[in-house]
Amino acid sequence: MEYRNLGRSGLKLSELSFGSWVTFNKQVDAGLAEKMFGTCLDAGVNFFDNAEGYERGQSEIVMGKALRALSRPRDSYCVSSKVFFGSHENPKPTQIGLSRKHVTDACHDALKRLQVDYLDLFFCHRADPETPIGETVWAMHNLITQGKILYWGTSEWSAGEITEAYEFALANNLTPPSMEQPQYNLLDRERFEIEYAPLYQKYGLGTTTWSPLASGALTGKYLTGIPQDSRAALPGYEWLKKHMVESDRGQERMARVRTLQPIAEELGVSLSKLAIAWCLLNKNVSTVILGASRLEQLEENLGAREVLPLLTEEIQQRLHNS
Ligand code: NDP
Repeated sequence: MEYRNLGRSGLKLSELSFGSWVTFNKQVDAGLAEKMFGTCLDAGVNFFDNAEGYERGQSEIVMGKALRALSRPRDSYCVSSKVFFGSHENPKPTQIGLSRKHVTDACHDALKRLQVDYLDLFFCHRADPETPIGETVWAMHNLITQGKILYWGTSEWSAGEITEAYEFALANNLTPPSMEQPQYNLLDRERFEIEYAPLYQKYGLGTTTWSPLASGALTGKYLTGIPQDSRAALPGYEWLKKHMVESDRGQERMARVRTLQPIAEELGVSLSKLAIAWCLLNKNVSTVILGASRLEQLEENLGAREVLPLLTEEIQQRLHNS
C-alpha cells in the first residue's frame, strides 16, 4: 500500500480505503465487517468511511462493533462520519442539516455508535442552503478545538460553496475545510477534474473519492442484465437501478462500459481493478474509497494497484476516449 497526504494536511491516508454505504447492516453484518476490516488492515488500509445517514446510523454501529472486536491501536487507523441527512426515519427539524446544533449532536452520536473518542474526518454530507456557511464553519472549528474531530470537510459541495467556507474560515482565523468527498470514476469525471481544479491549486484541497466502480457498473456485471444478488436489485434502490441501467442515461453509461471492457480483457485484468487503478492516476485523489458486499470483492479490489504499471499513456488515452 502507498500513502498520500490528505491535500495540504499532514495526515497520510492509504491510497485505497473502505466505506460502508449500502453494504453495512444490509449486506454485511458485524462478523463479516470484522473479517473485511482485518483484510483491509493487513493490506495497509488505514481509513474507514461512514455517515450518520447510512442505514440510519446502523452502519456506524456495525463498524464500531467490528473495529472494537479487532482492537487495533486507535492511532493506527482513521474513521469518518458525515452530518446532514440525519439518522432518524422521520427526523425533527433539528435532527438534519448543518446547524450548529445538528452538527454538534451528530458528532456526539457518531462517537457513541462508532465507539471512538474522536473522529479523524468529519464531513458535511451535502451543502445546507438553510444554514449560513459561517455557522457551520464555526461548529466544525469548535469540534476541532474540543478534540472531538481532527479534520473537517465537505461532500458534493459546489466549488463556490467550498470557496465560501474556506474564505470565511481564513477571514475569521478558524480551521478551513481540509477535504471534499466527491464521486470520481471513469463515468463521472467532470466535477472532480474541471469544477474543483482551482481548489487543488489554491487551497490544497484533499479528496476522499467515492464510488470508484460507479456502484458496480464498472465491474461490467450489468452488461447482460441485472444480477439478482447485486446492488441494483436491492429493495429500496430502484432509483439506483434506473440511474445505472434502465434510464436513457443509464443505457449511455452501459454503452461506455461496453467499450471499456475489451481494454481490460486485452490487458488481462478485470475491469474492476482497471477502473479503480485509473482513479489512482489522478494526483488530486488523496484516497479512493472502495465498496464491497463480499470478502472476495474486497480482496480483488485491494489488488487494483497491480494494474498501475499497465496503464501506459496509450492505454490512458484509449480509456479517455471510451
Ligand atoms: P463502488 O462504486 O466501488 O461500488 C461498490 C459495490 O459494487 C459493492 O458494494 C458491490 O455491490 C459491487 N462490487 C464491488 N466490487 C466488486 C467486484 N470486484 N465484483 C463485482 N461487484 C463488485 O463503491 P460505493 O458506491 O460502495 O462507494 C464506496 C464508498 O464511498 C461508500 O461505502 C461510502 O463510504 C462512500 N460514498 C460516499 C458518498 C457521498 O455522498 N459522500 C456516496 C456514495 C458512496 P453488489 O455486490 O451489491 O452488487
